[in-house]
Amino acid sequence: MKQRIPLVDLKAQYYSIREDIDQAIEKVIKKTDFIMGEEVSIFENEFSKFLNVDYAVGVSSGTDALHLALYSLGVGRNDEVIVPSHTFTATAEIIAWLGAKPVFADIDEKTYTISPKEIEKAITKRTKAIIPVHLYGHPADMLPIVNIAKKNNIFIIEDCAQAHGAKYRERIVGNFSDMAAFSFYPGKNLGAYGDAGMVVTNNKKLADKIKILRNHGRKEKYTHQIIGFGNRLDTLQAAILSAKLKYLNDWNKARRRIAGRYNTSLKSLEEVILPVEQSWAESVYHLYVIQANKRDELRSYLKEKGIETGIHYPLPLHMQPAYKYLGYKKNDLKITTYIAEQIVSLPLYPEIEDDTVDYICKCIKDFYH
Ligand SMILES: *Cc1c(COP(=O)(O)O)cnc(C)c1O
Repeated sequence: MKQRIPLVDLKAQYYSIREDIDQAIEKVIKKTDFIMGEEVSIFENEFSKFLNVDYAVGVSSGTDALHLALYSLGVGRNDEVIVPSHTFTATAEIIAWLGAKPVFADIDEKTYTISPKEIEKAITKRTKAIIPVHLYGHPADMLPIVNIAKKNNIFIIEDCAQAHGAKYRERIVGNFSDMAAFSFYPGKNLGAYGDAGMVVTNNKKLADKIKILRNHGRKEKYTHQIIGFGNRLDTLQAAILSAKLKYLNDWNKARRRIAGRYNTSLKSLEEVILPVEQSWAESVYHLYVIQANKRDELRSYLKEKGIETGIHYPLPLHMQPAYKYLGYKKNDLKITTYIAEQIVSLPLYPEIEDDTVDYICKCIKDFYH
């Protein structure tokens, strides 16, 4: 068995499509149109087709995508935005930066995504938007969330950073909201070779606004209609993402197959709880996350065996020092707090070999027996 099994292996993927990537990079370098080169709009078109949305606007990261989406919807001072606490910090930090208040809602214990019931409880007169996160590649339960948003006249921004190609009731995620944000952080299901992101929407006005906002508030070179940001998608990253997009469906299929292999091998263990895929969901397994008895001891044991694991995420946002000012107590979000102490992410990437997965499962079984 290999010396070290990483949680993610970006090199394995590069070597599997090396020619495509090298050609894409070389092409951009030869043209030197590094900023807003044609590859940007080419990739935007391809990605909007992939998702079946009308508009896709490339931006500098997933965080910036969320920020621009909220900003363009007018979220600001005195507004509240409902988010899960069990997510990456970016989902909440942009709310705070816009002067609005993040309101944390607890998650569903099966899917780990925001609970529609808890959203309903968190709504006030100030609620302006909800950001459901399709966490670990599994969609949030969008139908009730869409109904709540309609009833209360509030926006939805889907955080699709971990869910490129995931489906909810047979429709691809990114289609259930006013605007959706994607991240192409290198380790995501579709990853760039640096920071990159995308805002998608079916609303032309909003798409046009994001296009102007990301590029210093301008359409022409030195006329700035509004005060904008330097949030463009690099041409190089767009070219790399175009080269990789053709493989995304295959990679997602591989991830689903590997998750299935883990499930089959680990299902007899009483000490772990396996990920659930709801009947209405098609997960793209950005992460393979189990709940494990003696989680920390298991992690140390696996580490000794050369197996890297992760925790996504160890400290919920409502417990983070940065959000202390909001005044949450640990048990305000019981499921979130409980889950954070149970979960562990096992190695999963499309190129991981069956033998490696089998070895990891064997080590987990050895630990408990
Ligand atoms: C990665 C991630 C982000 C942020 O994306 P970046 O491209 O790293 O800025 C936001 N939300 C979630 C759920 C993420 O996993």
